[in-house]
Amino acid sequence: MKVCMIGGGYVGLVSAACFSDFGWSVTCVEKDTEKLAMLLDGQIPIFEPGLDDLVARNRAAGRIVFTGEMGPAVSEADLVFLAVGTPMRRGSGHADLTYVYAAVAELAPHLTGYTVITTKSTVPVGTSREIERRLRMLRPDGDFSVCSNPEFLREGSAIGDFTHPDRVIVGVGEDDARARDVMSRVYKPLALRNAPVIFTTRESAELAKYAANAFLAMKISFINEMADLCEAVGADVQQVATAIGSDRRIGDKFLHAGPGYGGSCFPKDVSALVRTAREARRPLSLVEQVQTVNEERKQAMVSKIVEAAGGEVRDRVIAVLGVTFKPNTDDMREAPSLTIVPRLMDKGASVRLHDPQGRRQAEPLFEGARWFDSAMEMIDGADILVLLTEWNEYRALDLKAVKGLMRGDRLVDLRNVFQPDDAMRAGFVYEGVGRGDAA
Ligand code: NAD
Repeated sequence: MKVCMIGGGYVGLVSAACFSDFGWSVTCVEKDTEKLAMLLDGQIPIFEPGLDDLVARNRAAGRIVFTGEMGPAVSEADLVFLAVGTPMRRGSGHADLTYVYAAVAELAPHLTGYTVITTKSTVPVGTSREIERRLRMLRPDGDFSVCSNPEFLREGSAIGDFTHPDRVIVGVGEDDARARDVMSRVYKPLALRNAPVIFTTRESAELAKYAANAFLAMKISFINEMADLCEAVGADVQQVATAIGSDRRIGDKFLHAGPGYGGSCFPKDVSALVRTAREARRPLSLVEQVQTVNEERKQAMVSKIVEAAGGEVRDRVIAVLGVTFKPNTDDMREAPSLTIVPRLMDKGASVRLHDPQGRRQAEPLFEGARWFDSAMEMIDGADILVLLTEWNEYRALDLKAVKGLMRGDRLVDLRNVFQPDDAMRAGFVYEGVGRGDAA
Protein backbone atom coordinates (compact mmCIF):
# COMPACT_ATOMS: atom_id res chain seq x y z
CA MET A 1 0.00 0.00 0.00
CA LYS A 2 1.30 3.46 -0.86
CA VAL A 3 0.73 6.14 1.74
CA CYS A 4 1.30 9.87 1.42
CA MET A 5 1.54 11.84 4.67
CA ILE A 6 1.13 15.57 4.26
CA GLY A 7 2.88 17.32 7.16
CA GLY A 8 5.95 16.08 8.99
CA GLY A 9 5.27 17.53 12.45
CA TYR A 10 4.58 15.76 15.75
CA VAL A 11 1.66 13.77 14.32
CA GLY A 12 2.65 13.45 10.66
CA LEU A 13 6.20 12.31 11.27
CA VAL A 14 5.28 9.80 13.95
CA SER A 15 2.36 8.44 11.89
CA ALA A 16 4.49 8.25 8.73
CA ALA A 17 7.25 6.42 10.57
CA CYS A 18 4.83 3.97 12.19
CA PHE A 19 3.00 3.24 8.92
CA SER A 20 6.35 2.58 7.24
CA ASP A 21 7.19 0.24 10.10
CA PHE A 22 3.95 -1.64 9.34
CA GLY A 23 5.53 -2.32 5.94
CA TRP A 24 3.76 0.34 3.87
CA SER A 25 5.61 2.52 1.42
CA VAL A 26 5.35 6.04 2.84
CA THR A 27 6.18 9.43 1.40
CA CYS A 28 6.11 12.25 3.93
CA VAL A 29 5.61 15.70 2.42
CA GLU A 30 6.93 18.60 4.51
CA LYS A 31 6.73 22.20 3.35
CA ASP A 32 8.95 23.81 5.94
CA THR A 33 12.34 23.96 4.21
CA GLU A 34 14.32 23.87 7.45
CA LYS A 35 12.47 20.80 8.74
CA LEU A 36 12.71 19.11 5.35
CA ALA A 37 16.45 19.72 5.12
CA MET A 38 16.90 18.08 8.52
CA LEU A 39 14.74 15.11 7.55
CA LEU A 40 16.63 14.63 4.28
CA ASP A 41 19.84 14.77 6.28
CA GLY A 42 18.66 11.98 8.57
CA GLN A 43 17.91 14.30 11.50
CA ILE A 44 14.63 14.55 13.42
CA PRO A 45 13.38 18.14 13.84
CA ILE A 46 11.42 17.39 17.03
CA PHE A 47 12.20 15.54 20.24
CA GLU A 48 10.10 12.41 20.54
CA PRO A 49 11.54 9.35 22.29
CA GLY A 50 12.43 6.52 19.88
CA LEU A 51 11.54 8.44 16.72
CA ASP A 52 15.11 8.82 15.44
CA ASP A 53 15.71 5.05 15.49
CA LEU A 54 12.32 4.26 13.96
CA VAL A 55 12.83 6.69 11.08
CA ALA A 56 16.44 5.63 10.49
CA ARG A 57 15.50 1.94 10.37
CA ASN A 58 12.66 2.41 7.90
CA ARG A 59 14.61 4.88 5.81
CA ALA A 60 17.43 2.39 5.48
CA ALA A 61 14.87 -0.22 4.38
CA GLY A 62 13.54 2.22 1.75
CA ARG A 63 10.04 2.30 3.24
CA ILE A 64 9.94 6.02 4.10
CA VAL A 65 11.09 8.98 2.03
CA PHE A 66 10.79 12.72 2.57
CA THR A 67 10.01 15.36 0.01
CA GLY A 68 8.81 18.93 -0.36
CA GLU A 69 6.88 18.11 -3.51
CA MET A 70 3.31 16.98 -3.15
CA GLY A 71 2.62 16.07 -6.78
CA PRO A 72 4.40 12.75 -7.33
CA ALA A 73 3.65 11.57 -3.78
CA VAL A 74 -0.10 12.16 -4.20
CA SER A 75 -0.39 10.70 -7.69
CA GLU A 76 1.21 7.44 -6.56
CA ALA A 77 -0.70 7.17 -3.30
CA ASP A 78 -3.61 4.87 -2.45
CA LEU A 79 -4.11 6.85 0.73
CA VAL A 80 -3.32 10.50 1.53
CA PHE A 81 -3.30 11.64 5.16
CA LEU A 82 -3.60 15.31 6.01
CA ALA A 83 -1.53 15.89 9.15
CA VAL A 84 -1.03 19.64 8.92
CA GLY A 85 -1.55 22.02 11.82
CA THR A 86 -4.99 23.32 12.82
CA PRO A 87 -4.03 26.03 15.32
CA MET A 88 -6.39 28.30 17.18
CA ARG A 89 -7.48 31.20 15.01
CA ARG A 90 -6.43 34.40 16.70
CA GLY A 91 -9.32 36.22 18.33
CA SER A 92 -12.17 33.85 17.55
CA GLY A 93 -11.08 30.58 19.17
CA HIS A 94 -12.07 28.64 16.03
CA ALA A 95 -9.79 26.03 14.49
CA ASP A 96 -7.81 27.63 11.68
CA LEU A 97 -8.24 25.41 8.63
CA THR A 98 -6.01 27.44 6.32
CA TYR A 99 -3.33 24.74 6.13
CA VAL A 100 -5.89 21.99 5.58
CA TYR A 101 -7.65 23.69 2.68
CA ALA A 102 -4.35 24.88 1.16
CA ALA A 103 -3.13 21.28 1.16
CA VAL A 104 -6.42 20.09 -0.35
CA ALA A 105 -6.17 22.64 -3.18
CA GLU A 106 -2.56 21.65 -3.79
CA LEU A 107 -3.15 17.92 -3.87
CA ALA A 108 -6.31 17.99 -6.02
CA PRO A 109 -4.66 18.21 -9.46
CA HIS A 110 -2.45 15.22 -8.68
CA LEU A 111 -5.11 12.68 -7.69
CA THR A 112 -4.63 9.69 -9.94
CA GLY A 113 -6.70 6.50 -9.76
CA TYR A 114 -8.87 5.71 -6.76
CA THR A 115 -7.48 7.58 -3.72
CA VAL A 116 -8.65 7.93 -0.15
CA ILE A 117 -7.95 11.33 1.40
CA THR A 118 -8.27 11.36 5.15
CA THR A 119 -7.84 14.00 7.83
CA LYS A 120 -5.51 13.03 10.66
CA SER A 121 -5.42 16.62 11.80
CA THR A 122 -8.01 17.54 14.40
CA VAL A 123 -10.74 19.31 12.43
CA PRO A 124 -14.21 20.59 13.36
CA VAL A 125 -17.37 18.71 12.51
CA GLY A 126 -18.22 19.07 8.84
CA THR A 127 -14.64 19.54 7.60
CA SER A 128 -14.44 16.18 5.78
CA ARG A 129 -17.67 16.97 4.00
CA GLU A 130 -16.31 20.39 3.05
CA ILE A 131 -13.05 18.85 1.80
CA GLU A 132 -15.09 16.48 -0.34
CA ARG A 133 -17.15 19.36 -1.72
CA ARG A 134 -14.02 21.29 -2.64
CA LEU A 135 -12.37 18.28 -4.24
CA ARG A 136 -15.49 17.51 -6.30
CA MET A 137 -15.40 21.08 -7.60
CA LEU A 138 -11.70 20.94 -8.38
CA ARG A 139 -11.76 17.41 -9.76
CA PRO A 140 -15.25 16.53 -11.07
CA ASP A 141 -13.55 13.63 -12.84
CA GLY A 142 -11.76 12.41 -9.72
CA ASP A 143 -12.21 8.98 -8.19
CA PHE A 144 -11.73 9.46 -4.46
CA SER A 145 -13.25 9.21 -1.00
CA VAL A 146 -12.78 11.52 1.97
CA CYS A 147 -12.50 10.05 5.48
CA SER A 148 -11.85 11.28 8.99
CA ASN A 149 -9.22 9.49 11.07
CA PRO A 150 -8.49 11.61 14.14
CA GLU A 151 -5.25 10.90 15.94
CA PHE A 152 -5.10 10.27 19.69
CA LEU A 153 -1.36 9.91 20.25
CA ARG A 154 0.32 11.86 23.04
CA GLU A 155 3.61 13.64 22.58
CA GLY A 156 6.29 11.96 24.67
CA SER A 157 4.82 8.49 24.20
CA ALA A 158 3.67 8.95 20.61
CA ILE A 159 5.12 5.77 19.07
CA GLY A 160 3.69 3.50 21.76
CA ASP A 161 0.35 5.28 21.52
CA PHE A 162 0.25 4.92 17.74
CA THR A 163 1.26 1.28 17.68
CA HIS A 164 -0.79 0.20 20.72
CA PRO A 165 -3.85 2.43 20.67
CA ASP A 166 -6.96 1.81 22.78
CA ARG A 167 -8.83 2.18 19.51
CA VAL A 168 -8.60 3.68 16.04
CA ILE A 169 -11.52 5.82 14.93
CA VAL A 170 -12.33 6.00 11.24
CA GLY A 171 -15.19 8.08 9.92
CA VAL A 172 -16.32 7.09 6.42
CA GLY A 173 -19.02 8.39 4.09
CA GLU A 174 -22.33 6.58 3.95
CA ASP A 175 -22.09 3.17 2.22
CA ASP A 176 -18.50 3.90 1.18
CA ALA A 177 -17.28 0.30 1.18
CA ARG A 178 -14.16 1.07 -0.87
CA ALA A 179 -12.89 3.67 1.62
CA ARG A 180 -13.70 1.37 4.50
CA ASP A 181 -11.69 -1.37 2.87
CA VAL A 182 -8.64 0.87 2.30
CA MET A 183 -8.75 2.17 5.88
CA SER A 184 -9.14 -1.38 7.26
CA ARG A 185 -6.13 -2.48 5.26
CA VAL A 186 -3.81 0.33 6.38
CA TYR A 187 -4.61 -0.45 10.04
CA LYS A 188 -4.63 -4.22 9.65
CA PRO A 189 -1.33 -4.62 11.57
CA LEU A 190 -3.03 -2.98 14.55
CA ALA A 191 -6.17 -5.08 14.25
CA LEU A 192 -3.90 -8.12 14.49
CA ARG A 193 -2.74 -6.70 17.83
CA ASN A 194 -6.35 -6.48 18.96
CA ALA A 195 -6.66 -2.72 18.69
CA PRO A 196 -10.25 -2.19 17.61
CA VAL A 197 -10.85 -0.09 14.51
CA ILE A 198 -14.16 1.62 15.11
CA PHE A 199 -16.00 2.82 12.01
CA THR A 200 -18.32 5.78 12.44
CA THR A 201 -19.77 8.52 10.32
CA ARG A 202 -17.32 11.27 9.47
CA GLU A 203 -19.14 13.75 11.69
CA SER A 204 -19.00 11.38 14.66
CA ALA A 205 -15.29 10.77 14.16
CA GLU A 206 -14.58 14.49 13.97
CA LEU A 207 -16.61 15.27 17.06
CA ALA A 208 -15.25 12.27 19.00
CA LYS A 209 -11.76 13.74 18.91
CA TYR A 210 -12.93 17.04 20.41
CA ALA A 211 -15.19 15.29 22.92
CA ALA A 212 -12.27 13.13 24.08
CA ASN A 213 -9.94 16.08 24.57
CA ALA A 214 -12.62 18.16 26.29
CA PHE A 215 -13.36 15.28 28.64
CA LEU A 216 -9.70 14.83 29.55
CA ALA A 217 -9.28 18.58 30.04
CA MET A 218 -12.34 18.49 32.29
CA LYS A 219 -10.77 15.71 34.38
CA ILE A 220 -7.65 17.82 34.85
CA SER A 221 -9.62 20.91 35.80
CA PHE A 222 -11.76 18.82 38.15
CA ILE A 223 -8.78 17.49 40.09
CA ASN A 224 -7.18 20.94 40.12
CA GLU A 225 -10.24 22.43 41.77
CA MET A 226 -10.32 19.47 44.14
CA ALA A 227 -6.66 20.25 44.98
CA ASP A 228 -7.63 23.76 46.05
CA LEU A 229 -10.33 22.33 48.28
CA CYS A 230 -7.85 19.83 49.73
CA GLU A 231 -5.56 22.68 50.70
CA ALA A 232 -8.40 24.49 52.40
CA VAL A 233 -9.69 21.53 54.39
CA GLY A 234 -6.50 19.61 55.16
CA ALA A 235 -6.85 16.70 52.72
CA ASP A 236 -4.27 15.34 50.27
CA VAL A 237 -5.32 15.47 46.61
CA GLN A 238 -3.10 12.54 45.69
CA GLN A 239 -4.87 10.33 48.19
CA VAL A 240 -8.22 11.58 46.91
CA ALA A 241 -7.13 10.94 43.30
CA THR A 242 -5.99 7.40 44.12
CA ALA A 243 -9.23 6.76 45.96
CA ILE A 244 -11.47 7.89 43.13
CA GLY A 245 -9.18 6.77 40.30
CA SER A 246 -9.25 3.16 41.39
CA ASP A 247 -12.96 3.16 40.59
CA ARG A 248 -12.99 1.86 37.02
CA ARG A 249 -15.92 4.07 36.15
CA ILE A 250 -13.62 7.05 36.79
CA GLY A 251 -10.15 5.71 35.93
CA ASP A 252 -6.84 6.90 37.34
CA LYS A 253 -5.51 8.79 34.30
CA PHE A 254 -5.53 12.59 34.08
CA LEU A 255 -6.11 12.94 37.80
CA HIS A 256 -2.79 14.60 38.63
CA ALA A 257 -3.21 18.05 40.11
CA GLY A 258 -0.85 20.63 38.69
CA PRO A 259 -0.47 24.08 37.17
CA GLY A 260 -3.22 23.63 34.57
CA TYR A 261 -3.26 21.88 31.23
CA GLY A 262 -1.35 23.19 28.23
CA GLY A 263 0.10 21.78 25.05
CA SER A 264 -0.72 21.92 21.39
CA CYS A 265 -4.11 20.21 21.72
CA PHE A 266 -6.22 20.72 24.83
CA PRO A 267 -6.42 24.53 24.86
CA LYS A 268 -7.12 24.89 21.14
CA ASP A 269 -9.43 21.90 20.90
CA VAL A 270 -11.50 22.89 23.92
CA SER A 271 -11.77 26.37 22.46
CA ALA A 272 -12.79 25.10 19.00
CA LEU A 273 -15.40 22.79 20.53
CA VAL A 274 -16.88 25.69 22.48
CA ARG A 275 -17.16 27.66 19.21
CA THR A 276 -18.75 24.75 17.37
CA ALA A 277 -21.32 24.29 20.12
CA ARG A 278 -22.18 27.97 20.28
CA GLU A 279 -22.66 28.09 16.52
CA ALA A 280 -24.90 25.04 16.72
CA ARG A 281 -26.85 26.90 19.46
CA ARG A 282 -26.06 24.14 21.93
CA PRO A 283 -23.51 25.84 24.20
CA LEU A 284 -21.48 23.47 26.36
CA SER A 285 -21.50 25.33 29.66
CA LEU A 286 -19.49 22.63 31.42
CA VAL A 287 -16.72 22.78 28.82
CA GLU A 288 -16.74 26.59 28.83
CA GLN A 289 -16.20 26.50 32.57
CA VAL A 290 -13.23 24.17 32.09
CA GLN A 291 -11.54 26.91 30.06
CA THR A 292 -12.12 29.47 32.79
CA VAL A 293 -10.87 27.16 35.54
CA ASN A 294 -7.71 26.43 33.56
CA GLU A 295 -6.93 30.07 32.86
CA GLU A 296 -7.42 30.98 36.50
CA ARG A 297 -5.28 28.04 37.52
CA LYS A 298 -2.16 29.39 35.86
CA GLN A 299 -2.62 32.77 37.54
CA ALA A 300 -3.21 31.05 40.88
CA MET A 301 0.13 29.26 40.53
CA VAL A 302 1.89 32.64 40.34
CA SER A 303 0.20 33.65 43.60
CA LYS A 304 1.19 30.33 45.14
CA ILE A 305 4.86 30.95 44.32
CA VAL A 306 4.72 34.53 45.58
CA GLU A 307 3.08 33.43 48.82
CA ALA A 308 5.61 30.66 49.29
CA ALA A 309 8.31 33.31 48.90
CA GLY A 310 6.77 35.27 51.77
CA GLY A 311 4.62 37.61 49.70
CA GLU A 312 7.34 39.24 47.61
CA VAL A 313 9.57 37.97 44.80
CA ARG A 314 11.23 41.24 43.81
CA ASP A 315 14.98 40.69 43.45
CA ARG A 316 14.63 37.07 44.54
CA VAL A 317 16.29 34.40 42.44
CA ILE A 318 13.74 31.81 41.30
CA ALA A 319 15.10 28.64 39.71
CA VAL A 320 12.56 26.85 37.53
CA LEU A 321 12.84 23.14 36.76
CA GLY A 322 11.18 22.42 33.42
CA VAL A 323 9.27 24.68 31.05
CA THR A 324 7.78 22.34 28.43
CA PHE A 325 4.07 21.63 28.82
CA LYS A 326 4.87 18.10 29.92
CA PRO A 327 7.94 15.86 30.14
CA ASN A 328 9.48 13.94 27.20
CA THR A 329 8.69 16.57 24.64
CA ASP A 330 10.29 19.80 23.48
CA ASP A 331 6.87 21.25 22.61
CA MET A 332 6.23 24.65 24.18
CA ARG A 333 2.80 25.34 22.71
CA GLU A 334 0.49 26.77 25.43
CA ALA A 335 2.78 25.55 28.21
CA PRO A 336 1.73 26.91 31.65
CA SER A 337 5.29 28.24 31.99
CA LEU A 338 4.47 30.79 29.28
CA THR A 339 2.03 32.43 31.70
CA ILE A 340 3.81 31.77 34.98
CA VAL A 341 7.42 32.75 34.18
CA PRO A 342 6.71 36.18 32.62
CA ARG A 343 4.40 37.07 35.55
CA LEU A 344 7.18 36.29 38.01
CA MET A 345 9.57 38.45 36.01
CA ASP A 346 6.97 41.25 35.91
CA LYS A 347 6.95 41.09 39.69
CA GLY A 348 10.67 41.74 39.72
CA ALA A 349 11.98 38.20 40.22
CA SER A 350 15.23 37.13 38.63
CA VAL A 351 14.23 33.90 36.88
CA ARG A 352 16.56 31.07 35.93
CA LEU A 353 15.43 28.25 33.66
CA HIS A 354 16.42 24.70 32.91
CA ASP A 355 14.75 22.09 30.72
CA PRO A 356 16.23 18.80 29.50
CA GLN A 357 14.90 19.19 25.92
CA GLY A 358 12.90 22.40 25.68
CA ARG A 359 15.60 25.05 25.57
CA ARG A 360 15.85 25.38 21.77
CA GLN A 361 12.13 26.10 21.36
CA ALA A 362 11.72 27.93 24.66
CA GLU A 363 14.67 30.29 24.77
CA PRO A 364 13.20 32.92 22.41
CA LEU A 365 9.93 32.86 24.39
CA PHE A 366 11.32 34.03 27.74
CA GLU A 367 13.07 37.33 27.28
CA GLY A 368 15.14 38.29 30.29
CA ALA A 369 15.37 34.82 31.86
CA ARG A 370 18.74 33.13 32.34
CA TRP A 371 19.24 29.63 30.94
CA PHE A 372 21.37 26.84 32.37
CA ASP A 373 22.44 23.55 30.84
CA SER A 374 22.70 21.91 34.21
CA ALA A 375 19.91 21.88 36.81
CA MET A 376 22.40 21.90 39.69
CA GLU A 377 24.24 24.92 38.29
CA MET A 378 20.93 26.73 37.97
CA ILE A 379 20.00 25.91 41.55
CA ASP A 380 23.31 27.22 42.94
CA GLY A 381 22.50 30.41 44.88
CA ALA A 382 18.72 30.39 44.19
CA ASP A 383 16.24 31.65 46.77
CA ILE A 384 13.22 29.69 45.58
CA LEU A 385 13.07 26.45 43.62
CA VAL A 386 9.96 25.83 41.49
CA LEU A 387 9.26 22.53 39.76
CA LEU A 388 7.03 23.16 36.76
CA THR A 389 7.51 20.09 34.53
CA GLU A 390 7.96 16.61 35.96
CA TRP A 391 10.93 15.37 33.92
CA ASN A 392 12.32 12.13 35.34
CA GLU A 393 15.74 13.62 35.93
CA TYR A 394 14.21 16.02 38.45
CA ARG A 395 12.63 13.18 40.38
CA ALA A 396 16.11 11.82 40.99
CA LEU A 397 17.50 15.08 42.44
CA ASP A 398 19.21 14.70 45.80
CA LEU A 399 17.22 17.23 47.81
CA LYS A 400 19.86 17.55 50.52
CA ALA A 401 22.48 18.46 47.91
CA VAL A 402 20.01 20.81 46.24
CA LYS A 403 19.23 22.58 49.51
CA GLY A 404 22.96 22.82 50.24
CA LEU A 405 23.49 24.79 47.04
CA MET A 406 20.61 27.18 47.52
CA ARG A 407 20.62 30.52 49.27
CA GLY A 408 16.97 30.15 50.26
CA ASP A 409 14.85 27.27 51.50
CA ARG A 410 11.58 27.41 49.54
CA LEU A 411 10.54 24.54 47.29
CA VAL A 412 7.33 24.95 45.27
CA ASP A 413 6.50 21.63 43.66
CA LEU A 414 3.71 22.27 41.16
CA ARG A 415 3.60 18.58 40.08
CA ASN A 416 3.80 16.91 43.50
CA VAL A 417 6.95 15.08 42.45
CA PHE A 418 8.68 15.20 45.82
CA GLN A 419 7.59 13.71 49.11
CA PRO A 420 6.86 16.55 51.54
CA ASP A 421 8.62 14.66 54.35
CA ASP A 422 11.79 14.21 52.27
CA ALA A 423 11.79 17.87 51.31
CA MET A 424 11.30 18.99 54.89
CA ARG A 425 14.02 16.64 56.13
CA ALA A 426 16.35 18.20 53.54
CA GLY A 427 15.64 21.57 55.13
CA PHE A 428 13.06 22.93 52.71
CA VAL A 429 9.88 24.80 53.43
CA TYR A 430 7.77 22.73 51.02
CA GLU A 431 4.69 23.78 49.09
CA GLY A 432 3.00 21.22 46.84
CA VAL A 433 -0.37 21.23 45.11
CA GLY A 434 -3.43 20.12 47.05
CA ARG A 435 -1.41 18.72 49.92
CA GLY A 436 -3.38 20.34 52.69
CA ASP A 437 -1.82 18.33 55.46
CA ALA A 438 1.76 19.12 54.37
CA ALA A 439 1.26 22.80 53.67
P1 NAD B 1 2.87 20.49 13.66
O1 NAD B 1 2.78 21.96 13.55
O2 NAD B 1 3.95 19.89 14.51
O3 NAD B 1 3.01 19.83 12.23
C1 NAD B 1 2.33 20.25 11.08
C2 NAD B 1 3.31 20.20 9.93
O4 NAD B 1 2.64 20.32 8.70
C3 NAD B 1 4.36 21.32 9.97
O5 NAD B 1 5.65 20.76 9.99
C4 NAD B 1 4.09 22.10 8.70
O6 NAD B 1 5.26 22.65 8.13
C5 NAD B 1 3.47 21.04 7.80
N1 NAD B 1 2.65 21.55 6.71
C6 NAD B 1 1.70 22.52 6.74
N2 NAD B 1 1.15 22.66 5.52
C7 NAD B 1 1.75 21.77 4.70
C8 NAD B 1 1.60 21.43 3.33
N3 NAD B 1 0.71 22.05 2.55
N4 NAD B 1 2.38 20.46 2.83
C9 NAD B 1 3.28 19.83 3.61
N5 NAD B 1 3.45 20.10 4.91
C10 NAD B 1 2.70 21.06 5.44
O7 NAD B 1 1.45 20.00 14.18
P2 NAD B 1 1.10 18.63 14.95
O8 NAD B 1 1.32 18.79 16.42
O9 NAD B 1 1.73 17.49 14.24
O10 NAD B 1 -0.48 18.59 14.73
C11 NAD B 1 -1.05 18.28 13.47
C12 NAD B 1 -2.52 18.01 13.67
O11 NAD B 1 -2.69 16.85 14.49
C13 NAD B 1 -3.29 19.12 14.37
O12 NAD B 1 -4.57 19.21 13.84
C14 NAD B 1 -3.35 18.65 15.80
O13 NAD B 1 -4.46 19.17 16.49
C15 NAD B 1 -3.50 17.16 15.62
N6 NAD B 1 -3.03 16.36 16.75
C16 NAD B 1 -1.86 16.69 17.38
C17 NAD B 1 -1.42 15.90 18.44
C18 NAD B 1 -0.14 16.25 19.16
O14 NAD B 1 0.09 15.67 20.21
N7 NAD B 1 0.68 17.13 18.64
C19 NAD B 1 -2.16 14.77 18.83
C20 NAD B 1 -3.31 14.45 18.14
C21 NAD B 1 -3.75 15.26 17.10
